[in-house]
Amino acid sequence: MSGHGSAALREAVWVANQAIVRAGLVTLSFGNASGVDRDGGVMLIKPSGVAYVDLRPEDLVAVDLDTGESVADSLRPSSDTPTHLALYRAYAEVGGIVHTHSRAATSWAQACRPIPPFGTTHADHFHGSVPVTRQLSDQEVGGDYEAATGAVIVEALTTTGLGPLEMPAVLVASHGPFTWGPDPEAAADNAIALETVAAMAIETLALDPSAKPVAQSLLDRHYRRKHGATAYYGQRR
Ligand SMILES: [Zn+2]
Repeated sequence: MSGHGSAALREAVWVANQAIVRAGLVTLSFGNASGVDRDGGVMLIKPSGVAYVDLRPEDLVAVDLDTGESVADSLRPSSDTPTHLALYRAYAEVGGIVHTHSRAATSWAQACRPIPPFGTTHADHFHGSVPVTRQLSDQEVGGDYEAATGAVIVEALTTTGLGPLEMPAVLVASHGPFTWGPDPEAAADNAIALETVAAMAIETLALDPSAKPVAQSLLDRHYRRKHGATAYYGQRR
């Protein structure tokens, strides 16, 4: 086992777990946030079935990024741990992951429909339609289910042709959203943004069932204001 993760990462993962609760994205104990320490080869993730109000930074479980084994005498890690590991292994630029069953985003996942970019709020965070995975096969559900969930997320993202930081969210069909970012805070922000655009997209279609996505030029303009070499939104760091 390579380590327990840095204190800074432990704090960041704890803060991300609290942020998704504060934002109203968590019902009961559904959902989890994690973060990765690439140098230490370790992921920190919420323990399984622990109520968020009782969660302390020291409760977060350190899991070896390569072997998937957790530190001896820790709590059991979230049952979604193999999904998080699959994403960290697939994408070196991902530093934090959040999974919720937030209401609007999960509704799109249950309808197995990608979320179209109806406006600039969407474009600020997601550079196109938020994709939805294919259904898992009976064999995948009966086998290494959580790892297969990670694999279909990678599959869905690959289909978009976008990188993980250009499209930091995928809806798992009949399940719910996974979001990520360069660190746990960004992953939580993207979960909050996703829930907002998912709810707005439902309302947009309620008002106008034939509503069309924004023009590609507007999508690109808003995305690039905030992301990449030419970003100019906010203050210089
Ligand atoms: Zn779930």
